[in-house]
Amino acid sequence: MTDLERKQSRHPVPPGWDYAPAPESRDIVRLEDRYGLFVGGEFVEPRSGEWYATLSPASEEPLAEVAQAGGEDVELAVSTAREAFENGWSALPGSERAKYLFRIARILQERAREFAVLESLNGGKPIKESRDVDLPLAAAHFFYYAGWADKLEYAFPNRRPRPVGVAGQIIPWNFPLLMLAWKVAPALACGNTVVLKPAETTPLTALLFCDVLRQAELPPGVVNVVTGDGRTGAELVKADVDKIAFTGSTEVGKAIQRELAGTGKRLTLELGGKAANVVFDDCALDQAVEGIVNGIYFNQGHVCCAGSRLFVQESIADQTVAKLKRRMATLRVGDPLDKNTDVGAINSRAQLDRIRELVAAGEEEGAEIYQPPCRLPERGYWFAPTVFTNVAQSYRIAQEEIFGPVLSVLTFRTPDEAVEKANNTPYGLSAGVWTEKGSRILWMAQRLRAGVVWANTYNRFDPASPFGGYKESGFGREGGLHGLEPYLEFE
Ligand code: NDP
Repeated sequence: MTDLERKQSRHPVPPGWDYAPAPESRDIVRLEDRYGLFVGGEFVEPRSGEWYATLSPASEEPLAEVAQAGGEDVELAVSTAREAFENGWSALPGSERAKYLFRIARILQERAREFAVLESLNGGKPIKESRDVDLPLAAAHFFYYAGWADKLEYAFPNRRPRPVGVAGQIIPWNFPLLMLAWKVAPALACGNTVVLKPAETTPLTALLFCDVLRQAELPPGVVNVVTGDGRTGAELVKADVDKIAFTGSTEVGKAIQRELAGTGKRLTLELGGKAANVVFDDCALDQAVEGIVNGIYFNQGHVCCAGSRLFVQESIADQTVAKLKRRMATLRVGDPLDKNTDVGAINSRAQLDRIRELVAAGEEEGAEIYQPPCRLPERGYWFAPTVFTNVAQSYRIAQEEIFGPVLSVLTFRTPDEAVEKANNTPYGLSAGVWTEKGSRILWMAQRLRAGVVWANTYNRFDPASPFGGYKESGFGREGGLHGLEPYLEFE
């Protein structure tokens, strides 16, 4: 123990010290009572005649009514997208398409605060994350792909790239606007048209995005949004689309793959993960602890690439866990719209139940649980940041994706053992390595079976960098030059 650590353990953070509330005003968001489906540049009533309420997970307060699109609605959206594809959009020069993407990016920047507040309101994530991560990255994706729209011939020389057609895009609730941007921007840059289905619990930023499309004067029908639950997603998979891009659970991803087998429709799947965050004894430990916290408690752990399995070298395990617990005690859980909040609300009742079930399984199987003392609000869906020690690799909490603020700590002695344990998972989306040796980083990165390997950092995203998985984490890449390919045919 260093002098500083000894001093810190004698003088823990005084419990009476608290932050004054710093709520972001929600006045900037003007919600409609009801939202129809966005088809052909207009909001239309659903032919299904069905509606449902979308909530704030932090208060369970209904925010608006949203249409539940049925089969006929999805068909209409797809045929509208087809018409837009054939009657102009696909033939537009890349430099013209780029102008629309640039406009969308600029408008997202201009309206960033409105979008950030709405994202936190409807999804439960802390405003400082939607403000500092989701919004800047969403705009950056549109800027980035705007740059490619007129350079496809250079991106794929001598391959004569042309658009695929109508893309059906199904996205989850953990990064609603950002996942929309990851999918819509490359599709449009390549000259495709889109029918997008947002997640049932988080449709509002996608619906506000429709307003951005009108502001940008995107030709009607190029992007259509059909809201609804899993049934709407299933209808979109069956519809006359040329490609499906899906982000969500491995279970639904497999069902979609089965459904599309033999149809000739293109498919990319970005599914779950159970990433290993590997900490060697030569790392900068305080920095690593920040990375561990960011890896698992960012966005309440609702992150497919979350560092949910922590592998610590045995010689520093006790010290790391002690530092981690101390850091966890400073995390502020509560109102997503408070600028001091670190951990917001769990996205839905169903997700909260799933987290509780897996945490109970961890305790039953014999792992040791720690949760820092924190007062959770009475209404809404909440789960305290949690860490499990004494975890065996066979435990469900070390195998299954929890998708919540729950970390499992395991140990290793040698780099070989770290690799073997880290790869002992059906998933392969991401991993983290903490060490001061560059050669060890490269050695590990070659051996870790993961689409993304972060070194001495975690959860870093950039539109220029491809993202995607192996094994049960799916296939296909989003972001970067690689992210164009699924939206193009080649001769
Ligand atoms: P889903 O895979 O069900 O949801 C992802 C998207 O697919 C949503 O838009 C969903 O609609 C839609 N969908 C659901 N069923 C079908 C279907 N049969 N055909 C086509 N689309 C469908 O994830 P859940 O929300 O149920 O979350 C369950 C678990 O999945 C989580 O606990 C987590 O482990 C994992 N997950 C992983 C994500 C990732 O980024 N890799 C993202 C979300 C979840 P609707 O929202 O209406 O159900």
